[in-house]
Amino acid sequence: IITFDDVSKRFGAVTVLDGLDFNVAEGEKVTIIGPSGSGKSTILRILMTLEPISGGTVWVDGEPLWHEKAADGSLKRPSERHMRHMRTKLGMVFQSFNLFPHMSVLRNITEAPVQVLKLSKAQARERAGDLLEMVGMSDHRDKFPNQLSGGQQQRVAIARALAMRPKIMLFDEPTSALDPELVGEVQEVIRRLADAHDLTMLMVTHEMRFAREISDRICFIDKGRIIEDGPPEAIFSDPREERTREFLGALL
Ligand code: ATP
Ligand code: MG
Repeated sequence: IITFDDVSKRFGAVTVLDGLDFNVAEGEKVTIIGPSGSGKSTILRILMTLEPISGGTVWVDGEPLWHEKAADGSLKRPSERHMRHMRTKLGMVFQSFNLFPHMSVLRNITEAPVQVLKLSKAQARERAGDLLEMVGMSDHRDKFPNQLSGGQQQRVAIARALAMRPKIMLFDEPTSALDPELVGEVQEVIRRLADAHDLTMLMVTHEMRFAREISDRICFIDKGRIIEDGPPEAIFSDPREERTREFLGALL
C-alpha cells in the first residue's frame, strides 16, 4: 500500500534519503528505527505531502503521490487537488500533540470530518463519540487542550486522525515527548489499533520493547538507506548487520 521506489531527498547539499526502496503491505504494522538524523521523520513527512522528494517515485494505495522527474528535469509536483485526495488516505500523529489549541476536544475531532469529508455535525459528533470512548477520553470532550495532560492530548490526537477513517496511520515518536508515567496509556491505545486487521501502520519509535510487541516488521535505517529489514525477533535477537548491532547495543 506504500512504495518508495529509488527515492532520494536532498536538503540543499545534504542528502537525507539516498535511493530508498521501501514497501509496506496493506494491513502491515511496520516500525522504522535508526539514529537521529537518519531520515525517519522525512519518510513520514513525504507520505503526508509535507515534504517533496528530489527523485524517484512514491506510491500510496495504488496511486502515485510523488513522481519521477518531468521531461525538462524538474520534479513533477502533484496538483493541490491530488495531494488533498491522497492525504485523506493517511492519518499522522506527531511527537508534539499538535491539537488545535482554541478548539474543544470534541471540536478538534469533528472539524476535519465536517470540513473535508462533508459529514453533518451530528454524524461527526457520533463518530467522535465512538473514538473518544475508544481512547478513554469520553469524560473530557468539552475541555481544551491546555487542560489536558500530554498523554490525554496524544490520545485525542490519535482519535482526531482516526476520525478521517484513514487506511494508513503514521506515528512519529508518539510517546517520546511524554512523561514516563504517561507513556503506557498512549501505547495501550496504539496497541489496540495494531490489532485492527486492515489498518496499515507505519511508526517511528525509540521504544524498542513496544516496537517488538506490535510490529510485523522492523526496518533499521541509517543515513537514508535501509540497512536491515525483517521480523522483530530477527532484528532484535539476531541482527545480521554490524551497524544494527551497534545501534541496538548503544540503546541498552
Ligand atoms: P530524529 O531521530 O532526530 O527525529 P530523523 O531520523 O527523524 O531524526 P529527519 O528529521 O528525517 O531525521 O532528518 C534527516 C536529516 O535531514 C537531518 O540531518 C536533518 O537535519 C535534515 N533535515 C530535515 N528537515 C530539514 C529541513 N527542512 N531543512 C534542512 N534539513 C532538514
Ligand atoms: Mg524524527
